[in-house]
Amino acid sequence: MAGLVLKNIDKIYENGFKAVNDFNLEIEDKEFIVFVGPSGCGKSTTLRMIAGLEEISGGELYIGDRLVNDVAPKDRDIAMVFQNYALYPHMTVYDNMAFGLKLRKMPKEEIEKKVRNAARILDIEHLLDRKPKALSGGQRQRVAMGRAIVRHPKVFLMDEPLSNLDAKLRVQMRTEIAKLYRELKTTFIYVTHDQTEAMTLGTRIVVMKDGLIQQVASPKEIYENPANMFVAGFIGSPQMNTFYGTTYEKEGKVFLKMLDKEVEVPKDKADILREKDHANADVIVGIRPENISCKKADVDKAEVVFESEIEVSENLGAETFLYLKAEGRQLIIKTATAENLNTKGSLRYIMDLNKLHIFNKEEQYTVF
Ligand code: ATP
Repeated sequence: MAGLVLKNIDKIYENGFKAVNDFNLEIEDKEFIVFVGPSGCGKSTTLRMIAGLEEISGGELYIGDRLVNDVAPKDRDIAMVFQNYALYPHMTVYDNMAFGLKLRKMPKEEIEKKVRNAARILDIEHLLDRKPKALSGGQRQRVAMGRAIVRHPKVFLMDEPLSNLDAKLRVQMRTEIAKLYRELKTTFIYVTHDQTEAMTLGTRIVVMKDGLIQQVASPKEIYENPANMFVAGFIGSPQMNTFYGTTYEKEGKVFLKMLDKEVEVPKDKADILREKDHANADVIVGIRPENISCKKADVDKAEVVFESEIEVSENLGAETFLYLKAEGRQLIIKTATAENLNTKGSLRYIMDLNKLHIFNKEEQYTVF
């Protein structure tokens, strides 16, 4: 069991490209940390530096109390599961799982115990005699995980382990990984570009962009209080709506002009705008699709009602996404599917003003 410390970690590739820039993170023992971000943001590079597969250009990496910058991968007490399982095709499932332990000259009986125990955890005991080509994608992925489990690593590293699986299997394996984490009680670091995996698996999420950490926080905190517009847009599906607005003070209150209407900003939020010097400013307003309501009962009692044309509606069964055109931009509403739901023409809707987000217009950091 071990925590990790990444201190001012940089990665500069041979061609001079800086893929990771001053990465600082303390990971506690038994945390499930997810690195998430768009393609090319440096998440795999960071993971590979932790694994020892990529040289660290600058900074310090500790696993437990040990500085491991120059420690060989096999001596770091970590196990890594890759996107492309990398199983040996000519070996049975049993031998694939046992291989690393045999290399370490572990006694046969002990190997057998470990392999059978991992196979039980992963529910692949009945597949131990098969070769990889006779397995489904999900089963191969389990074997790849089994191979990591038998080593009892201090730290589990996973690089997009589910991205080769079809949608249904992905969901199933995602819950398997969550169970595995509970059962193994060890530190996990998991790379994905899928925000659903990040939200459902992580105890903390590290959102990255262009080699830089944007925010490190729990899934709930990231969702409710994103540090900037990038994080706000990256986490959440459909993504947060954003549009321009202007704030101004009048008679001790703060008002917000947006989408041709004016609303009074709730007092606690108005105080934050004043404190942060954004009470008379051009801003970017954000609101999540589920915080907009077009329910008649809500709209009828509201003081300020917006109105826009519906361009497209998508009925997903329990919920419906309505895509509106507001000030030339798309605005998405997520609502429960209902018989009387308006899905064409003009729609009246309100916003939950307590759920608004305000971003600085130039630098796009969060005001609240
Ligand atoms: P993806 O989800 O696409 O795998 P990622 O966030 O994991 O993306 P990395 O693989 O860490 O991204 O790559 C980060 C950046 O470093 C990318 O811009 C990539 O092109 C660059 N990069 C990766 N390997 C090398 C290399 N060997 N030499 C030069 N640049 C590299």
